[in-house]
Amino acid sequence: MDDLTSGSDSDYAKYWIDWFLTTKGNEYFCEVDEEYILDRFNLTGLNSEVQHYVQALDLITDSLEEELDDEMREAVEKSARHLYGLIHARFIITSRGLAKMLEKYKKADFGRCPRVLCHNQPLLPVGLSDQPYTKSVKLYCPRCEDIYNPKSTRHASIDGAYYGSTFPHMLFQVYPHLLPPKSNERYIPRIFGFKIHDIAKQHRWQDQQREEQQRRITVVGEGNVNS
Ligand SMILES: [Zn+2]
Repeated sequence: MDDLTSGSDSDYAKYWIDWFLTTKGNEYFCEVDEEYILDRFNLTGLNSEVQHYVQALDLITDSLEEELDDEMREAVEKSARHLYGLIHARFIITSRGLAKMLEKYKKADFGRCPRVLCHNQPLLPVGLSDQPYTKSVKLYCPRCEDIYNPKSTRHASIDGAYYGSTFPHMLFQVYPHLLPPKSNERYIPRIFGFKIHDIAKQHRWQDQQREEQQRRITVVGEGNVNS
């Protein structure tokens, strides 16, 4: 199955975005609308963030006509993936982008919360930083409000800036009725049926008593009771 996927890459070569989205490991990305990419206003500032910007953009929009040698082709390919990621981060917080990501969330394309008491809650990708090359993508659970590492190493190596720190929170701002109820259930650790918390509390109290006693003995020993 894996071999089939990678072997069929050339079938998609005609449409760069189709090729990109069907490449293994890119399942968290949604398809950015072509109109969005073609509106240069949406890409403001990205030209200074991406090497070979013009060729990379041409490649993404299937309009690269220049003949490139292998080395240059590889560099442009890499830039195109980076550029697509940066455009993706901007697109998914627009109403169109949110709607597309919502469909993926409903299908649990981003996986489900590993926490038992979250009862298979679907996750959403989130960046811890909006700056590229800082942190890889994490998965946010809206039920326990915690973040998790993606299970697959392919997903775990995706730049978090391609999703951004705002996206999942923006999604629930726009679709508040989809916010799952907060998880109030807590796992209670027990040893032989006793809550560890109670035992720990008792231990802490005992420690405090011992320390207090020790302190008094020291003070009396030094003869400084009233100082
Ligand atoms: Zn959770």
